[in-house]
Amino acid sequence: MCGIVGYVGDGDATRVLLSGLNQLEYRGYDSAGIAVSDGGGEICGDGGVDANGGVSSDGAGIDVRKRAGELENLEAAIESGAPTGSVGIGHTRWSTHGPPTDRNAHPHTGETGAVAVVHNGIIENYRALKEALVDAGRTFESDTDTEVVPHLIEQALADGADPETAFRRAVSQLEGSYAIVAVFEGVDALFAARNDSPLVLGVGDDGYHVASDVPAFLEFTERVVYLEDGETVVVRGDGATVRDGDGDVVEKAVTTVDWDVEDTGKSGYDHYMLKEIHEQPTALRQCLSGRVNELDGTVELPEVDGVPAPSTVHLVACGTSYHAALVGAARFREAGTPAQAFLASEYAVRTPPVGDALVIGVTQSGETADTLAALRAARSRGARTLAVTNVVGSSAARECDDAVYIRAGPEIGVAATKTFTSQVVSLSLLVERLAGSATGSEASRERLAALRDLPGLVQQVLDESAAAAVAEAYVGRDGYFFIGRGPNHPVALEGALKFKEITYEHAEGFAAGELKHGTLALVTERTPVIAVVTGDDAAARKTVSNVKEVEARGAPVIAVTDGRAGVAEYADHTLALPDAHPSVLPLLANTQLQLVAYHVANRLGRSIDKPRNLAKSVTVE
Ligand code: GLU
Repeated sequence: MCGIVGYVGDGDATRVLLSGLNQLEYRGYDSAGIAVSDGGGEICGDGGVDANGGVSSDGAGIDVRKRAGELENLEAAIESGAPTGSVGIGHTRWSTHGPPTDRNAHPHTGETGAVAVVHNGIIENYRALKEALVDAGRTFESDTDTEVVPHLIEQALADGADPETAFRRAVSQLEGSYAIVAVFEGVDALFAARNDSPLVLGVGDDGYHVASDVPAFLEFTERVVYLEDGETVVVRGDGATVRDGDGDVVEKAVTTVDWDVEDTGKSGYDHYMLKEIHEQPTALRQCLSGRVNELDGTVELPEVDGVPAPSTVHLVACGTSYHAALVGAARFREAGTPAQAFLASEYAVRTPPVGDALVIGVTQSGETADTLAALRAARSRGARTLAVTNVVGSSAARECDDAVYIRAGPEIGVAATKTFTSQVVSLSLLVERLAGSATGSEASRERLAALRDLPGLVQQVLDESAAAAVAEAYVGRDGYFFIGRGPNHPVALEGALKFKEITYEHAEGFAAGELKHGTLALVTERTPVIAVVTGDDAAARKTVSNVKEVEARGAPVIAVTDGRAGVAEYADHTLALPDAHPSVLPLLANTQLQLVAYHVANRLGRSIDKPRNLAKSVTVE
């Protein structure tokens, strides 16, 4: 989920790796590390290794340095004597399994030190693999899922495999999302693989690079080879051999990128926010990875195995997270568990009776002061607390009895986008897992299947959205009203919040039925109304009536709809949603609203990634 760099060539690997890690810093990370070897083994021209497995007889060793925290901690650890060598790998970690500590930082080695590995993503089946490896007598040093990889490689080496075979054999046992790069003691090559996690090669004059993102090596080369899922590659200083899953060599094209150094962190997008909106399909896959058992309609969340089915649930959160909490509360109620979302700042000072409620704090950063205060207030009254957060080892995660991670990866844009979507999906999984009546039913199986399809559907919305044209048509009006009913009410609130945050225009979100109880007085032909209408149930039909009310007052209407309720007939513009299960349509609508806000803000030249007066992590009450 975070950053990978690798280098093999004539240069100083440590320098190249640190430069790459610095370039990837913008992604956010919680620990960093490098492993450098001075290579030495011969590699055959076809990318295989030589007869003695490519391992030089003098076995020069791999020098691994890693530290929790900022890159400067790693640099300080290197100051007194940098590893020397011409082959190496580096990593910035965004923890998913195990807190950010020196021990859990990458690279990871096995027991012999013959191989070091960096990994982005999640190895879904790591528990089963780890059990088998422990049964075979292996000892693990870290809490990560990643550590199974060097152990699997070492096991294959011990069985007589050469490095490439050992690497491919290990990778073939992995399920989940990964970009992996390994370096072997005494071997002048890197071994890399990808599945559902980005990995690119850089073709330089003084060597070859591998990275999770092009900016990592842009200082050295603009020539890039994009790897595909299922491919593995042996990278030497003067060439690389890519193979598909069957082991057949794949010819790859070299592309020259012409990225402006300023924009590099944004992978070609104009803003981090837009990049993060587009990262949602990947973030969702990571969030769901290994957690859903569709066949029996159950959810695996070992993090909450000790949590009994709650009789009542309180969700406490702020801002965008509060909107996710509203969705979560509604889902719990639908599953038969009384639940309510509270604004954390209010809950902290007017804590309702907690009884035996499970109190769930929803916070992207895990450091939101208001949410921490609400959780503390609940805990002081004897409540069991659970954090739903993106940051492993954050204050919320540490202070709560239990924590579920949303696995959205780092988010740089101040306006939360992918973390909202991943919060909603994580809360949905939590409901399926904790609310007794939700588990295992036919309806549950359908909802889980819908979640499985969600990343693809979000991608479809991103590919086909007309939001840019709609934004162009409505920029510069007096105010904007977002309305939605039932499951689309939180979406309307979130759509308006996102719009306010980055456009600086006045916007308000309403339950669709509430507009007529006062705010309708503000509705004119200069106040576009964005109506979220999904499905064709009573809620949808009533929202169509509300749309007619505003239309009659001359307001332009933008309908965000799957088309089933026939609202398009009353709308000036439509943002279409694909046909989907009712439980995921609100998230698809939200994607459209994120894009509308983005395009209006962009048209107005706003500081989209750092809106005025706002901070990413709000650590004051
Ligand atoms: N799942 C791995 C870990 O927690 C890799 C995280 C990452 O992508 O940085 O260590």
